[in-house]
Amino acid sequence: KDGVYLEIQTTLYDKNDHLIFVRDVTRLHLLEQMRKDFVANASHELKTPLTVIKGYLETLDMFSDNLPTSMQKGIVNMSEQSERMEQLIEDLLLLSRLESNDKREEDQWHKVADLVQTINKSTGAMLKEEHKLTFDIPQEARLYGSYNELYSAFSNLVVNAIKYSPDGGDIEVKWESGEFNGVFSVKDTGLGIDPRYIPRLTERFFRVDKGRGSKTGGTGLGLAIVKHVLLHHDAKLQIRSQPGYGSTFSCHFPANRLRNDNIPAIASNT
Ligand code: ADP
Repeated sequence: KDGVYLEIQTTLYDKNDHLIFVRDVTRLHLLEQMRKDFVANASHELKTPLTVIKGYLETLDMFSDNLPTSMQKGIVNMSEQSERMEQLIEDLLLLSRLESNDKREEDQWHKVADLVQTINKSTGAMLKEEHKLTFDIPQEARLYGSYNELYSAFSNLVVNAIKYSPDGGDIEVKWESGEFNGVFSVKDTGLGIDPRYIPRLTERFFRVDKGRGSKTGGTGLGLAIVKHVLLHHDAKLQIRSQPGYGSTFSCHFPANRLRNDNIPAIASNT
């Protein structure tokens, strides 16, 4: 009753004949749907117990002055880990929503500078003195899409540029638009990435250096989120990197999603 899913492929057999291959992929499709539902349900169910744990930890923290130092350290550690777990759950839920195309907000016109300004505010606390974060975003640039999704994608790229530049360095956030496309890019002079890992970066939970993950505090889902957000916006991710010299992540948007003007953009929803 849910229909049949077929994969059809045609190949030129000889000059005048074609071969048509038809494959029934209904079972594969159902299994994939079960996987997506499981991840979405499990993430949702984990939220409630975590909220309770966080609540008690906050109470414990308020009275921690009278506790031995080892227990105070334990509370700080547990609080950090529960923050991490919360971020992981939020990222999994966002990925599930993006994959299922469910509950997406309607696309609207947004001012790119507004999006970036919010990111600038939220990443401020992560910056060290040795970082130099610069923005070059024309005030007239407008982008058609979902504010929250674009915010997640762009902020993941800026956060990564900061995280993977542990010794500081220049980070440039730019918007450039031409006749055929608009490009949002984040360039850093940080650790860089070995070229053989670049094709795998947008896989869920893929990390170049597994050990580094626990120190930098990422979830390993950031670039998977970027990939899915860009898919929804008909955009493409380009990654250029040189180990030891830094990386540039660029998002290429098609012309029909761009506008250059000074008409006030529709109010953003965050
Ligand atoms: P994470 O939460 O681990 O940062 P992401 O999906 O955002 O997960 O990134 C996947 C991996 O790609 C990271 O663990 C890191 O190894 C690598 N990476 C991402 N951005 C950068 C960057 N700007 N510089 C160097 N490595 C990066």
